[in-house]
Amino acid sequence: MTARGDDGKRLSPEDARRQRPDGPEQPCEMIVVGSVNADLVVRVDRRPRPGETVIGSDLVTYPGGKGANQAVAAARLGARVALLGRVGSDGNGEFLRKALAGDGVDLSHLAETPGPTGVALITVGADGDNSIIVSPGVNALLSEDDVAAAADLLASARVVSLQLESPLATVVAAARTAARVVFNLSPPAVVPDDLLAVCDPLVVNEHEAALLLGEHGTPCQQATALLALGPRSVVLTLGADGAVVAGPDGVTTVPSPSVDAVDTTGAGDAFTGALAWRLAGGDDLATATAFAVRVGAASVRSPGAQSSYPYQEDLETL
Ligand code: ADP
Repeated sequence: MTARGDDGKRLSPEDARRQRPDGPEQPCEMIVVGSVNADLVVRVDRRPRPGETVIGSDLVTYPGGKGANQAVAAARLGARVALLGRVGSDGNGEFLRKALAGDGVDLSHLAETPGPTGVALITVGADGDNSIIVSPGVNALLSEDDVAAAADLLASARVVSLQLESPLATVVAAARTAARVVFNLSPPAVVPDDLLAVCDPLVVNEHEAALLLGEHGTPCQQATALLALGPRSVVLTLGADGAVVAGPDGVTTVPSPSVDAVDTTGAGDAFTGALAWRLAGGDDLATATAFAVRVGAASVRSPGAQSSYPYQEDLETL
């Protein structure tokens, strides 16, 4: 249920966290280790060819970054979640820190580092599709030392959620300290077998699966092939078609609710943040996935990544 104040109004996630019966001092259920970016979005009628200039819409800056997106998705649903990451010493860093704090994310391990905050340059074409360039900025400085400094925090959480907009060595180090690893292998890259071996689950979308497998088949066949790469379990997301789960108990398809999609940016991050939170709460993988597809579907109904992420009450009609 959504927490409400004495006047009946919905509380901000930060205030709701303060007022919980279990208190704000409880350890985090989940930790996200990952990127924090400012998404700079311009809409264009068509993309410029090399050497060409086109006029676009006004620039809109949204809070983004895969790590921050996952943390916000979980926090809005009610999670006690901390983000291990870095922002720069610039206006974007201040903007992003404020946005995360407003959503109730624990920022005790979000460092401010001299240098530029990560930025994603996003052009949205008339057809609604995105082209994105990520400039990592100080996300590239998130280090194994940062992981070591947060070792107690990481070890106390039930789930640590990871993606690949941070240096691979940092992700590998974080995975080593975690009780349970949820790993979204995005952007796709070759990763060591011992990282894959601790994923429970490995989460990828169809494009990432195709790159990893270099072959095509039905989604169930792809999920089975991904499982053969070594993770303990797999979740393959399928956009409007939901997801497929593969693990020791077999393969299960999980349909997504049908919605009018406006903007799919960050749907996978919303899905993964929700999934990690429910796994931290003790759900089995298929049950957690059935919840996460609703969160992913809710997130495509409005523009932006974090700006579109649902609260519990937004899921009631899905
Ligand atoms: P990514 O954002 O990484 O490309 P997907 O497109 O597979 O990942 O989306 C992740 C999840 O978000 C899906 O499993 C589904 O639950 C939900 N979702 C995405 N697009 C839609 C859509 N058009 N309609 C309903 N749900 C969607």
